[in-house]
Amino acid sequence: MANLGIPQNTIAVLQKYNFNFQKKFGQNFLIDTSVLDRIISAAEITKEDCVLEIGPGIGTMTQYLAESAREVVAVEIDKALIPILQDTLSEYDNVTVINEDILKVDINRIVQEKNEGRPIKVVANLPYYITTPIIMGLFESHVPLKSITIMVQKEVADRMQVGPGTKDYGALSLAVQYYAKPQIVANVPPNCFMPRPNVGSAVIRLTRYEQPPVQVQDEKKMFALIRASFNQRRKTLVNGLTNAPELKLTKEAVAGALEKMNLSPTIRGEALTLEQFARLSEMV
Ligand code: SAM
Repeated sequence: MANLGIPQNTIAVLQKYNFNFQKKFGQNFLIDTSVLDRIISAAEITKEDCVLEIGPGIGTMTQYLAESAREVVAVEIDKALIPILQDTLSEYDNVTVINEDILKVDINRIVQEKNEGRPIKVVANLPYYITTPIIMGLFESHVPLKSITIMVQKEVADRMQVGPGTKDYGALSLAVQYYAKPQIVANVPPNCFMPRPNVGSAVIRLTRYEQPPVQVQDEKKMFALIRASFNQRRKTLVNGLTNAPELKLTKEAVAGALEKMNLSPTIRGEALTLEQFARLSEMV
């Protein structure tokens, strides 16, 4: 099968199958071989690797993955793409296509079956409408992972990478940075896709930590604090946390903890580092 990273080949497949793009599934197919090469090299795929691809589309990146990995599992929600994938991937015997919603698939079971429970690599040109639930789902369900190398909206890639004191800093930055080391590896303009998205894109690699950079007794509690702080971004941390009924915190408790941490009583959540959120969650 011809390389689908070359636009004419993608057009030929779309015409052959009379394929209609589904906006609701975030379908923007890659048509740039240098971006595809960049993703594969950033993911450092070897013949030892089992790779999970989320949303293979017509199989453009899947072909690259099949060439460089030992085993590829590709989960695609759109059933109209399944016969196309059977065609475009027919020469590979190391690819399994699953017609399912990635948010409903038991990824831990796939890892068990295909990689004996050893860590896999995730590589994807993600559907942008569910970027955050996909990433958080992978981390929170403790899927054994080496890394996640994904195309996302540029703005979302920035949010994952920044630290305190910037407008993009928020719950997603802290969650990603608790589980993984983020690194933006390429910026990708709209003309690398068919159809063109309305936003700029970026490839980001998240390398999973074996041990998180901060230690907490209760991860869930720390993330509840983080979420409450950023839900009310313009409020002080004391007000943000005491206004969140699920936390059941008093003003005195939060103010006391801030004082012990040498932080101002009027500080906002957006000024705290991950380490400070971890300490705060141990103290309140
Ligand atoms: N990987 C292809 C490429 O790079 O050309 C397609 C990428 S396109 C941005 C996103 C793909 O994810 C589409 O094929 C879409 O149908 C699929 N998709 C959307 N929502 C999904 C979901 N919940 N589960 C699995 N796949 C999904």
